[in-house]
Amino acid sequence: MKDIDMIQDLPSVTGHSDSDSTAGNKKKPKQKPIKLFEAALAQIQKAASLIELDPEYMAILSQPQNEVIVNFPVRMDSGHLQMFTGYRIQHNNILGPYKGGLRFHPAVDLDEVKALAAWMTFKSALVGIPFGGAKGGVTIDPNKYSEAEICRIVRRFTHALSYNIGPEHDIPAPDVGTNSQTMDWIMDTYANTNSPSARQAVKGVVTGKSVECGGSISREAATGQGVLYCLRHWCGQNEVTLDSLSVGVQGLGNVGGHFMRLACEAGCKIRVVGDHHATIKNAEGLDVADVLAWVKENGSLKDYPGAEHIDSDALFAEPVDVFVPAALENQINLSRAKTMQCQLIIEAANGPTTSEAEQLLLDRGVEIVPDILANSGGVIVSYFEWLQNKSAHYWAADDIQHELRSLIWGAYDQVISCRERLHSTTREAAYAVALYRLREVYDRRGIFP
Ligand code: GLU
Repeated sequence: MKDIDMIQDLPSVTGHSDSDSTAGNKKKPKQKPIKLFEAALAQIQKAASLIELDPEYMAILSQPQNEVIVNFPVRMDSGHLQMFTGYRIQHNNILGPYKGGLRFHPAVDLDEVKALAAWMTFKSALVGIPFGGAKGGVTIDPNKYSEAEICRIVRRFTHALSYNIGPEHDIPAPDVGTNSQTMDWIMDTYANTNSPSARQAVKGVVTGKSVECGGSISREAATGQGVLYCLRHWCGQNEVTLDSLSVGVQGLGNVGGHFMRLACEAGCKIRVVGDHHATIKNAEGLDVADVLAWVKENGSLKDYPGAEHIDSDALFAEPVDVFVPAALENQINLSRAKTMQCQLIIEAANGPTTSEAEQLLLDRGVEIVPDILANSGGVIVSYFEWLQNKSAHYWAADDIQHELRSLIWGAYDQVISCRERLHSTTREAAYAVALYRLREVYDRRGIFP
């Protein structure tokens, strides 16, 4: 499928622990796979201990509420029938409808989707929007299918999910390997399988739709924009200016691409960037507009003529002030972390840093803006889209930016004051702010019956 808005389809080290990822080192003993959901729970548990969360609440949050797995057939262009497996994991809805993206990627499995769903619960709670957490996906490489095949897969998956999604129940959005076109098809399929009188009222069954089909202005760039708002906030705290910073970016999909463009417009020097085919650098700063035009035209950085090409692992070792992982999970592992020279990591991807790597980086004084804060811009503007669909009143770009900035900066301020109060890491503080919100609501609502 052409022009898909992928975060970044890098060869992932997901599923293997840190030291296993050193390519070519055959002597290394086989490492235990990293279980992503376990890793997510360990992050939550640290914050829960710090705020002395009632273990009963932790027990509730340690399991998704619902796990929907569907197997469905789709007719390929060749005439053959192919079976697909899709997931929708609904982690928690105490704060509002389940919310989170749909990922189309070969590495999608139950463990990954469970972790991603849990992170959504905490992301929404942290930034104070009335959503719970969910995530879904199909185990598929979308690049291997025609647009017509992808359309049939999306529609049949939507039909298989059936009433497990809905505008007041569970609201999918784009993630790795899906985009506004995917959301338009889901909305259309869902509407057409509803009663005729309800069809106009169900636009909000997904967010991240095209503007033409009821999407919000600025939704596509929102995650990258939010990452830049985090960077601006950090600059304010540390009395540095954006134009004094050199930046490295991993991933040139929707998130990395928009972040890189916006950061460059704001004056940052983008020194190095890598995607699944190549890594390029220029110590004086890359010509970002030219790089993005090349990627749009050619699909990746491969053979980009305007910069020096380096090894993919060398991306992490380049001397930059700020590093932005905008790809998949577990990309910053221990061996890569050892080579990193930046002062700040802003996690545009979900779960990009392993716990061992994080410990090493923190010991070295590197600051990490955690994923649930750093990449919350996407779900925040999804919330604005959902509100716009409900009211049929559409906002101007300035209103979106103003509200997005104030939610992200407000959450960032709360995380910093919580970090000081708890003497914790930034990640622990981010989870703690989210847990305070969840605890408050559980305290008031109680446990049914
Ligand atoms: N997939 C995005 C995320 O991981 C956006 C989710 C949404 O807008 O619901 O945050």
